[in-house]
Amino acid sequence: MRAVDIIVKKRDGAELTAAEIKFFIGGFTDGSIPDYQATAWAMAIYFQGMTDAEATALTLAMLRSGQQLDPHVDFPPGAVVVDKHSTGGVGDKTSLALAPLVASLGLPVGKLSGRGLGFSGGTIDKLESIAGFTVQLSNEAFVRQLHDVGLVIGSQTAELAPADGKLYALRDVSGTVPVLPLIASSIMSKKLASGADAIVLDVKVGHGAFMKTQADARHLARLMVEIGRNAGRRMSAVISAMDEPLGRAVGNALELKEAMAALQGSGPSDFEQLVVTLAAQMLRLGGLGSDEQILQNQAREQLRNGQAWEKFRQFIAAQGGDLRQIDDPELLPSARLIEPIRAPAAGWLAEIRADAVGLAVVELGGGRQKKGDSIDYAVGIVLEAKVGDRVEAGQPLCWVHANDPRRLAEAQAQVLEACRISIEPVVAPPLVYEIIS
Ligand code: URA
Repeated sequence: MRAVDIIVKKRDGAELTAAEIKFFIGGFTDGSIPDYQATAWAMAIYFQGMTDAEATALTLAMLRSGQQLDPHVDFPPGAVVVDKHSTGGVGDKTSLALAPLVASLGLPVGKLSGRGLGFSGGTIDKLESIAGFTVQLSNEAFVRQLHDVGLVIGSQTAELAPADGKLYALRDVSGTVPVLPLIASSIMSKKLASGADAIVLDVKVGHGAFMKTQADARHLARLMVEIGRNAGRRMSAVISAMDEPLGRAVGNALELKEAMAALQGSGPSDFEQLVVTLAAQMLRLGGLGSDEQILQNQAREQLRNGQAWEKFRQFIAAQGGDLRQIDDPELLPSARLIEPIRAPAAGWLAEIRADAVGLAVVELGGGRQKKGDSIDYAVGIVLEAKVGDRVEAGQPLCWVHANDPRRLAEAQAQVLEACRISIEPVVAPPLVYEIIS
């Protein structure tokens, strides 16, 4: 087999066999297939798509590119390890609050997360805004911390789903992110490799998501749920809105601060609602109850009683993060320039396109333009108004946090373009569309 023939076959729209997919992923992982061929292949998949059978074969090939963890070592028989993953959105700092919340209720959470991808941020980059925080964990360290703390979040390593680690970095900078089979295989290979028994997926749909229609989001959700079930996992998928940014903060350290506020009961209401919705799914799959309303109330209570916050502190300390920055968020990276974007007219905020906000943050330095770029943790955008809010002319719609005056001005212009003010009242859209479980 030759890599070029597999690229050409996909470029021309034919269905690949499981053997061809396995060959390609194997070669890419061991370096015999170079980045430029993998990028060309990803672009061919972007244009031609894949059947569900190909996407499943791709997931399994990526899963088998590395080891598979057994996270149950040292747990009593029957212990359920849970995990969660989002398909990517803007301002989506959900895992930072959700994982400690669920772990604080006694369910072990072991999670492999990703970095920023296109306009969407990544949990790993957000956590790395904390000095000393380490995301590269050996399998032994991952399992030990899961047992000792009940919560661990690491990035892909050379051991776990290495093919996803390599392909993810190429997709981020080659325009090949928003395509269903690459998203499904990227997420599910990581989730299966880290060995959780129960997996909750947050499938985002809207301007700031990779799936633009509810039909595509549902297809992605069903495909991932099926791949997980076939691998013997308990699965649930929440389809949630991503037209405007989630919560108010977008940008690595800014989102971390907002998640920390939520863990202490003072997060934005849409963000808190999504966290408790997903928490209820994780608790249900983990066997801690079946009434979703009761589970949501229990989750909300954990954000108020200090237990989720305390679990977060333990987790940060266990991975080497500087607790002084956690106890005093003023010590986290912060930008030198903070300027408003003002409403050009009075009315109701009808739109603030999440993709434009996400791209503005990338251009401020908060995301990567090419593979391996370093990022500026401090920059970002904080919304003052959300869709449905009444605004007056000249009132700040949001604040741009920047370290470069030219980039600041560009972000102001770009985000203003992405806002629409209506003279009629606007009703805030629903946050959760559907739960597939
Ligand atoms: N999250 C992932 O891990 N991979 C994707 O492709 C998208 C979101």
